[in-house]
Amino acid sequence: MTDFSNKKVLVLGGSRGIGAAIVRRFAHDGATVAFTYAGSHDAAQVLAGETGSRAIRSDAADRQAVIEVVSGEGPLDILVVNAGALVMGDPLTLDADAVDRMIDINVRAPYHAAVEAARRMPDGGRIIVIGSTNGDRMPFAGGAAYALTKSALQGLARGLARDFGARGITVNIIQPGPTDTDMNPADGPMSAMMHDFMAIKRHATGEEIAGLAAYLAGPEAGIVTGAMHTIDGGFAA
Ligand code: NDP
Repeated sequence: MTDFSNKKVLVLGGSRGIGAAIVRRFAHDGATVAFTYAGSHDAAQVLAGETGSRAIRSDAADRQAVIEVVSGEGPLDILVVNAGALVMGDPLTLDADAVDRMIDINVRAPYHAAVEAARRMPDGGRIIVIGSTNGDRMPFAGGAAYALTKSALQGLARGLARDFGARGITVNIIQPGPTDTDMNPADGPMSAMMHDFMAIKRHATGEEIAGLAAYLAGPEAGIVTGAMHTIDGGFAA
């Protein structure tokens, strides 16, 4: 366990699933944590009460709202962008507005949040974005739009790592495989098919993903930047 006391953390999209596990981990390790959410008001209030963190309603699809919340919470030592949407299906019939909203949440928000955070982030700060193993491998039909959003984050990390490296600020992508959350429940109808692609045939837990986030945010990872960190049970192996 790393001691994150005296560190200020903002998690974009922290009310449920992987984001909530990351909020719990940083709060447990002593950080001052705030997180955003969109719709899950009750879950956000319960999590805030449990962890001593602060919940802020802010829609990641709204660029101005993203910039305002990151700026308002700054200067941040650690920014984690976790909010994500998943829109899958036949690209010939998929709702174009839903695809564009997913691109807003999964690509535009991380970019603008990272840039805004870096304006006032102290030297040695950390920017972590939750991508997906689908950024590297999309082994079934219907996932093109989602995969493109997660691949885009790879360019974000490689580029921003160079923009902010002189200040010791690291920029990293965590690429989970199937992880047990509302978005992808371990007992869902797609699970057996996904496990077929994996060397370790189970969903990850949010806590396992949060452990990697804590490593990347900690002092041992000061030279780790511009990199993708796949944690997927061998899904993309
Ligand atoms: P969930 O759907 O379980 O939770 C998503 C979280 O993001 C919620 O806290 C949600 O808030 C928040 N969020 C979603 N949209 C917005 C928005 N517009 N504005 C603010 N907050 C928002 O997802 P997961 O925990 O499964 O996924 C988290 C991240 O991990 C995503 O980026 C996802 O793509 C990625 N991922 C997940 C995998 C999985 O198998 N679960 C695998 C690979 C990557 P609210 O509760 O208010 O809606």
